[in-house]
Amino acid sequence: MGKGSNTPIAADHSKLKSPSAIPRFPEFYYDVPFACRECGSSEVWTPKQQKWWYEEIGGNIETTAIYCRPCRIKRRLVKEEARRVHLEGLARKGRYT
Ligand SMILES: [Zn+2]
Repeated sequence: MGKGSNTPIAADHSKLKSPSAIPRFPEFYYDVPFACRECGSSEVWTPKQQKWWYEEIGGNIETTAIYCRPCRIKRRLVKEEARRVHLEGLARKGRYT
């Protein structure tokens, strides 16, 4: 309770992107309940988050949220760590060849 009662927000189709020739853009963004793929937590992807994802940062209209916030942050840290190790590996290679 408490979750899942956000006001729908009208979609701005001029800002939406789709790889499809016949895109199916929503008229409004509604709460999208989902279970986090990582930890199984019950989450709600809010209209505000969807508008930001699709319209502000150009997210593909076919994509939806699959991870809860803590898992997203965790996954981003893991990715950054992998990138850092990768770059260090490259730097090391450069130094010793
Ligand atoms: Zn999670």
